[in-house]
Parts: sequence; C-alpha cells; structure tokens
Amino acid sequence: MCINSNNTALDNVTHVTSPNNVWNSPKSASAMHNGGLAYEYFRNTHNRNSLNGQGGTIISVINVTEDDGTQMDNAFWNGQLMAYGNGNQLCDRPLAAGLDVAGHEMTHGVIENNGAGGLEYMGQSGALNESFADIFGCMIDRDDWLVGEDIINNAVIPSGALRSMSNPHNGASSPSTFYWQPENMSEYQNLSSNQDNGGVHINSGIPNKAFYLYATAVTKIKPSAFITAP
Ligand SMILES: [Zn+2]
Repeated sequence: MCINSNNTALDNVTHVTSPNNVWNSPKSASAMHNGGLAYEYFRNTHNRNSLNGQGGTIISVINVTEDDGTQMDNAFWNGQLMAYGNGNQLCDRPLAAGLDVAGHEMTHGVIENNGAGGLEYMGQSGALNESFADIFGCMIDRDDWLVGEDIINNAVIPSGALRSMSNPHNGASSPSTFYWQPENMSEYQNLSSNQDNGGVHINSGIPNKAFYLYATAVTKIKPSAFITAP
C-alpha cells in the first residue's frame, strides 16, 4: 500500500486511494510500481513472498521530510515501512523515482525479517547489510552497476550516481569525499560508531566490488543450483 506523509516526518499520514482507479500522484504510482518490481524479483527469482516470506503487506510512504520539516535527500527502511523523501540538494528528483532505491530499501526489510540478528546495523555487519541492499537493488534495476543514478543531482556528484559497484571510488580521489568508498580491504575505513554507524555506507564498497567482479565474471543470472525449496 502507499501512504502519503504530506510533507511531514511521518506525523501526518494518509492512505493514498482512488475511487475510480485514476492515480494523480506520480510519486505514489512510482513507489507502487517500483515496489512491485522489487517484490516480483524476490518472488520470482528467490521464491520469497514479500519481506517476511509470508506475503506480508509492503508499505511505501511518499513525501517524507526530515524531523525538522526540511525536504529529505534520502529514503529509508524503519523496520516497518519504506519511506521516500522528495530530494533537496543531493537528489534532484523524488527518491520514489529510483527503482534501485526501492530495491535497496525493500532488501533491508527482507534482511531484517531473515532470521536472528538480521545483520546488525553497525560496523562490518552493517556494511554487509548495506552491500546486500545495493546488490539486490542493482539486480532489480539491472541495467547498470550504479546506485541512485536516476535521482542524484549530477552537479553534486559528477559521476551521476550515489555509489558505483564497479568503481566504488565513484570518481573521488580521497576517502574524505563523501561519495568515495573503498574497493578492497586495504582501503577499509576503521570508523567509530557515530560516523555512519561505523561506516556502513562506506565499507559496503568492498563487498559491492566483490559481487560486481563475481557477477561480471560468471553471471547476473542466479544459478539454478542455488534455488531452494520454499
Ligand atoms: Zn541502505
């Protein structure tokens, strides 16, 4: 289902409905379309029926702001729902327009529902959580190895993408650039818990690059031997 946060931080939400199947909000249509494609990927490729594996309701929320009401340059999974901002400086389009964004956030929900621990969102387990979200996001939006290329303001990040799985440095020359990521363990960033939860969006570049190397050397198609019984 799609929920409208009406430009609040989830404080004033209304259900997006239509009496005649005419949908006037492109953001709600995009959120539902992209969420549907992500759902179908997990269902058809991994035989997983929704986030909880049991056909649970998927909730997408549009027009979400920061707590202080400013436009949000982000999307997030909060344990129950996928929330999309409309972009501010980093993003120049609503986050709901990004198929890989929907795939990324839905994957966080799958991970959280996938057994004990759910890759605690801190340090190396958090970086793996972020990396799996990027990997499945790029399998769902599979025409490139970029993350966020459809919503990023190219004036802010010249590569035109938030992250690149094939080139985690992403056009930056130094780890001090916010869109740089390491691509192997020799570049691992040992950060404290108050720095991006120990670098969860930074060190994810290492397993991202490893998956890119695997998938381009072998295949993007899931080998049938990996298919398990429901
Ligand atoms: Zn994430």
